[in-house]
Amino acid sequence: MAAAQQIGTPSSGLCSVGLDIGGTKILGALLGPDGEVLATVRLPTVRGAEGIVAGAAQAVREVVAQAGRTLDDVAGVGLGIPGIVDHAAGTVRHAVNLGVDGAELPLADLLSVALGGLPVVVENDLNVAAVGAAHILERSKPDRDRAAGSGVAPSEDLAFVALGTGLAAGLVLEGHLRRGVSGAAGEIGHVPVDPAGPECPCGQRGCLETIASGTALAAAWPARHGKPAPVELFEAAAAGDADAVAVKARFAEAVASAVRLLVLTVDVRHVVLGGGVSHLGEPLLEAVQEALREQAKSSPFLTSLALHERVVLAPQGVPVAAVGAAVLGRRG
Ligand SMILES: [Zn+2]
Repeated sequence: MAAAQQIGTPSSGLCSVGLDIGGTKILGALLGPDGEVLATVRLPTVRGAEGIVAGAAQAVREVVAQAGRTLDDVAGVGLGIPGIVDHAAGTVRHAVNLGVDGAELPLADLLSVALGGLPVVVENDLNVAAVGAAHILERSKPDRDRAAGSGVAPSEDLAFVALGTGLAAGLVLEGHLRRGVSGAAGEIGHVPVDPAGPECPCGQRGCLETIASGTALAAAWPARHGKPAPVELFEAAAAGDADAVAVKARFAEAVASAVRLLVLTVDVRHVVLGGGVSHLGEPLLEAVQEALREQAKSSPFLTSLALHERVVLAPQGVPVAAVGAAVLGRRG
């Protein structure tokens, strides 16, 4: 069964393609046999089942051609998509942003047919981002520290936290994606942290994502000057606005709580901060690390876990999720 295979195990000397299909764009990456990124591509998303399949097929062909290769050089295609994904069946449903809201869409089969029978795997967008982050972190290490064997299999446990519309984590544990029995592993955004907090769309009250998400941040500090809300908040805080300082601190504390929750649950080596809010870059990392140090001050136990040293920003300038999808696609 494919799911039991170690992530990153090359199935052959062939390349693989990964796609990250979002509401506005399709990002693609071609990975070489050694896991290196050979080419990337970006196309606008055309909503609806037909548009998505056609766009995905076009992205695969373009990224392969860009590297001077053909589909014969490709072992398989991986695809990351928002919505409810059945990775074993290769189907997706309820991808509302993509205009796929009704019946289950057999995306893997449809794309495979469009690509002349190439094997296609479909995975949740957060999970491919986690795999991509693990792959890129692993390859950034000196050779001697990489996992034995393939040289690209992640050797250290990792959580990828998406700070976007909501808050959720993808988990790579012992070289495998952890989906959970119902695909809900890592849904830490819906851990209630404040019984008196606002109602969450999930039906509970005071969920972590009502404080620690891009949506929560934009509600607490609406953009007034045409920049993204997180940028305006951090700029105002840096300029000494007392309200902004307080809102930023509350947000950073809540993200730090998410990090603490992940480490105390699965003791991952790396917690990668990704999603739209992570485009803040270093100032976000510093704020979260500061909050983690503060939370650990009164606890020798937390201090011993060195939580602030485990947090890193998602790699910038690389289509992380597309790379992760390609890593999964190489299983062929
Ligand atoms: Zn909730």
